[in-house]
Amino acid sequence: MTSFPATAVQVRDRSRDPRRRRVSLRNCLYHFAPYGFHATWNHLAAAHRIPRRIEADPESLARALDELEAARVVVLPRAAAFAADQRERKRHGRRFPIAAHPWDSWGGHGIAYCPDPGKHPFEPLPVVVGRVLDACAAGADPRGRCLVCGDEDRRPRRACRHCGVLPGGRNNPI
Ligand SMILES: [Zn+2]
Repeated sequence: MTSFPATAVQVRDRSRDPRRRRVSLRNCLYHFAPYGFHATWNHLAAAHRIPRRIEADPESLARALDELEAARVVVLPRAAAFAADQRERKRHGRRFPIAAHPWDSWGGHGIAYCPDPGKHPFEPLPVVVGRVLDACAAGADPRGRCLVCGDEDRRPRRACRHCGVLPGGRNNPI
């Protein structure tokens, strides 16, 4: 499978068939989809008005990609800093806590996974992703309060009633 950046280049390539560019955008979601594949696609399609007949507005794909990339830029430095910290600890023979970090999840799904593709936050992806990662860095406990919308009436291992987010992702729901 090609990388996210290489697939992103295919999305922006105006010489390609718009339908193939749309497939490339969907392929980007295999690399990075903070709400999960389907909910992230639904969000981007609605927010950037990606038409069913893509020939009518192929540039909607580039606009959607801009938003997706902006969210990825929020995540990458934190993942890199965490990896560097792990290497440093290893070099000094220190053990490090085996904690779940949302960006480690496949495609970043653990950041703000939405099990119902039709129910996800309305705010831009970089805003939501940044808010969740800031809260994680500050040690916030997602069991007490939704890290995305602040709802204090969370039900364990169930998606938030207001924003649709289930912390921990598909495999490790909290
Ligand atoms: Zn919420």
